[in-house]
Amino acid sequence: MEAGSLLRFAAASGRFTPGEAKLAASQASFLCHSYPHHYTWLPFFQICSKKRAFPRPIGNRSFCTESTGDFFNTSKRRSRGPVMAAKKAAEGGKKEEGKYKHTVDLPKTTFGLRANAVVREPELQKLWEENQVLKRVSERNTGDRFTLHDGPPYANGDLHMGHALNKILKDIINRYKLLQNHKVSYVPGWDCHGLPIEQKVLKLMDEEARKELTPLKLRKKAAKFARLSSHRFGIWADWDNPYLTLSPEYEAAQVEVLGQMAMKGYIYRGLKPVHWSPSSVTALAEAELEYNENHVSKSIYAIFKVTALPPASTTLLEEFLSDIYLAIWTTTPWTMPANAAVAVNPRLTYVVAELLPNPEGTTEVPLNGKKAKIGNVLKSGEKKLYLIVASELVPKLESKWGVKISVRRTFPGSALEHCRYIHPINGTECPVVLGGDYINTESGTGLVHTAPGHGQDDYVTGLKYGLKWISPVDDEGRFTHEAGQFQGLNVLQDGNSAVVSYLDAQLSLLLEEPYKHKYPYDWRTDKPTIFRATEQWFASVDGFRDAALEAIKQVKWVPSKAVNRILAMTSGRSDWCISRQRPWGVPIPVFYHVESKEPLITQETIDHIKNIFADKGSDAWWYMSIEELLPEKYRGMASQYQKGTDTMDVWFDSGSSWAAVLSKREGLGYPANLYLEGSDQHRGWFQSSLLTSVATTGKAPYQGVITHGFVLDEKGLKMSKSRGNVVDPNTIINGGRNAKEEPGYGADVMRLWVSSVDYTGDVLIGPHILRQMSDMYRKLRGTMRFLLSNLHDWKSENAVHYDDLPVIDKYALYQLESIINSVKDSYESYDFYKIFQAIQRFAIVDLSNFYFDMAKDRLYVGGSTSFTRRSCQTVLVEHLVSLVSVIAPILPHLAEDVWQNLPFQYVMEDGSVAKFVFELKWPQLNGRWLNMSADDVDFLGTILQLRSEVNKVLENARAGKLIGSSLDAKVFLCATDSSTLAKLEEMCMASNDADALHRIFITSQVAIINSRSHEEAAYSGSYSDPSSGEIWIGVARADGLKCERCWNFSTQVGSFVEHPTLCARCYSVIDVQQPLPAAAGVN
Ligand SMILES: [Zn+2]
Repeated sequence: MEAGSLLRFAAASGRFTPGEAKLAASQASFLCHSYPHHYTWLPFFQICSKKRAFPRPIGNRSFCTESTGDFFNTSKRRSRGPVMAAKKAAEGGKKEEGKYKHTVDLPKTTFGLRANAVVREPELQKLWEENQVLKRVSERNTGDRFTLHDGPPYANGDLHMGHALNKILKDIINRYKLLQNHKVSYVPGWDCHGLPIEQKVLKLMDEEARKELTPLKLRKKAAKFARLSSHRFGIWADWDNPYLTLSPEYEAAQVEVLGQMAMKGYIYRGLKPVHWSPSSVTALAEAELEYNENHVSKSIYAIFKVTALPPASTTLLEEFLSDIYLAIWTTTPWTMPANAAVAVNPRLTYVVAELLPNPEGTTEVPLNGKKAKIGNVLKSGEKKLYLIVASELVPKLESKWGVKISVRRTFPGSALEHCRYIHPINGTECPVVLGGDYINTESGTGLVHTAPGHGQDDYVTGLKYGLKWISPVDDEGRFTHEAGQFQGLNVLQDGNSAVVSYLDAQLSLLLEEPYKHKYPYDWRTDKPTIFRATEQWFASVDGFRDAALEAIKQVKWVPSKAVNRILAMTSGRSDWCISRQRPWGVPIPVFYHVESKEPLITQETIDHIKNIFADKGSDAWWYMSIEELLPEKYRGMASQYQKGTDTMDVWFDSGSSWAAVLSKREGLGYPANLYLEGSDQHRGWFQSSLLTSVATTGKAPYQGVITHGFVLDEKGLKMSKSRGNVVDPNTIINGGRNAKEEPGYGADVMRLWVSSVDYTGDVLIGPHILRQMSDMYRKLRGTMRFLLSNLHDWKSENAVHYDDLPVIDKYALYQLESIINSVKDSYESYDFYKIFQAIQRFAIVDLSNFYFDMAKDRLYVGGSTSFTRRSCQTVLVEHLVSLVSVIAPILPHLAEDVWQNLPFQYVMEDGSVAKFVFELKWPQLNGRWLNMSADDVDFLGTILQLRSEVNKVLENARAGKLIGSSLDAKVFLCATDSSTLAKLEEMCMASNDADALHRIFITSQVAIINSRSHEEAAYSGSYSDPSSGEIWIGVARADGLKCERCWNFSTQVGSFVEHPTLCARCYSVIDVQQPLPAAAGVN
């Protein structure tokens, strides 16, 4: 039935409420919606089914009558109906056409087309909460436990899109697993220690309040934050019992992990250069650094006077000794006071380079010259200079320094070992040493200024040569007295300049120039860090690196290439500095001997402190006495010890969550099934969790790890307040100040977006994308509404047995089953965007084009109790229940809204009624639906392709004014292939109405003819494919008269005396149904 006639029935009817009429009209227009061109319609079976290879290639145009997208044509043809009908309805319509209106089954539902999500979603969330739906379902489920372990974000700010992406991905997985009969428990976590919190809390408080701040107060703040959080995204979690890294039981578990590592010998105290943040006044771990690509350092070329040659190089260099210098390059001049050696690479070739004055006598520097400053020693141009540099770098240095170089000697780097030079600042004599391959010719001179107190490579080289070294910089980044005249100056500011000026004054500076490079910044303060040697606690990664690498290989990484990233990071990382010099954290529970400074950490001390923390929290470390903190065994020696003041790296906190949460909480499992965080966590939480877990138990804390990218704006730019491109999840859900520009879309539209992106890379979001998502959501809602509204009178006992279904209905179930299987595969492999695409194609485009389009005639005018209507409803029920479960993990609110408007009770296999959508289980595999014969599937595929071509010819006929709607038409088909011909004839004579070709084409008649008949059919086209051959299509006006009730043309109209305006089908429906009301005829 055409949308137009439907609407007229509705509009002319006094019996239907205006709402019902509107519903029918909107359904008609929903189904006739003009999809944009790029949705060139490809029937679902061509795209999605993996079960059978179809003979027709996708997008094959050989059968096309016209090249325009089929659906576009179809929609144009059909969209006339509702427009005209709506106009007529507005004008009052023709009253006499209401004669059979009461025999038409109009759709009916309480489910609105508009989501009204801002109001409705919180109602649904309340419903779940009040009924403890997900908890009950998890308890009811009989499958394996599924643990997705939440990584704890910092409890210090508002939620942004990154959180939304992360939490929604997790929720989609958890809800899917729930439908798959797993027991699911999801405990959200919050990282509560460390600087970010300390800073945030302090910033928000006035001075008085700051003095009052106790960990207890902060704990309350964090807990409150946890409650408010991502709840509104529709995240199902144990919100009442989140894990907080500051809870006593957590801290105790963390101390236990530390103790186990210490007892295995993996924890040690050492003096080593570490990343130090002067701005935060603490050591930092690699994971707390952010590399600034645009950092500009003051780089210098400096020279150190050689004073003594070892025997090996005496003959080589002796003649230059009075004027020979080592040339070095550094980007940290402030480390010069700590210089202890110059290192060369024994495998590189070096030269004695005689500096000749520039022929033009210029002192300008030609390259990078804008801000470069030439040193005094070069300015005069008089001093004789023999510089030792790497051979390869000679041309580069000539142009850089603006000089000519004459190479006087060439020799291997090994010849330089044990040469001695004068320290340019303190005047002591220092050695030339051999370093490793970190010395290269990519930049600099090939000789490396070595300050073991300020660099990792330097430190290693220093150990090798037993170099005496210093680190004359204090916690705030100021030179100490060990730096002599520079004492008190800030090494990153005036201290740096002072060193450069001093070198220049000493004629040790060749050139100074700004140098842009990647430099480690403190991720919290966004200020540069330095390398500085201090006494710290370390976890010896070397001790368990091999086990960690082995454990990594046992884990399933998504995307799979991530395994290389974490392998590289783990194999390359140095020992983990775990101590911090900040008060807000879990103390490293170590005592130091007052005199010897020897640390005391034993199984007994750890056990004792662990118990205290479990009872009182780690505050106890600060307020309890040493006597109380020491176990009985050591109590008598309390006066000989003092408490350590270091706290643990917050990555140790969160990295212990497997021990504190997974191993301790009921309902969770260790190792977890899954960790899921941003890709930056390869060096953060994934790594610290792995290290603590492998070090203590020998295995990874997770079986699978998924990483996602960052959320960028629509143009692919990073979001920032200054750019004004920040998308706020709360605004997406509830709307912004300007409701037109920023409507409240609700959580489901945001969740739909999450499902649509390939999260393994960076993802984009913005107003345009959100509008697209909202559009898709609305259409999906329309699909669900069509299903609900045509099942308003459904009873399960009306269901038609599968064997008795028309072929076209079996085919619809075949398609449904195929998509459910393919969607399941995509859920299992976490490829949610594939689900999004499949739903978009199937539930929105294909169903509307094919099954729903044909179903309308059967549903509305087939007769309330007719076989054709009931078999159609049988198919619709399956679609409704399957689709609603399939979309529920992604769109839980929509799914529940559908379920709450279900016009019948849904009884599950165990006899219970599913009152909430999550009480359903994932649709059971219906192997039978899939086992439809290959012949039937192929032939119905052909029919649908053919139908597309028929629609095009009909469209031409309509444009040529031969017909109005498709029901005005009769279609002729002529097949060259005899078996195709036979099959078409068979379909024309289908025993049931639903399979008849003219019903499938939505025309009044179809005739199979033996030869093409252009006289009869003015409009024609053709379809062909390799298996069915060519089929000629002709279109003419339909025979007979138009049936008043269903608008189909029939030669039988007029042959029934009592109902002269009805066709045979409608006559039989009326006859079976009920007598006409007496008044109907009068109208
Ligand atoms: Zn009829």
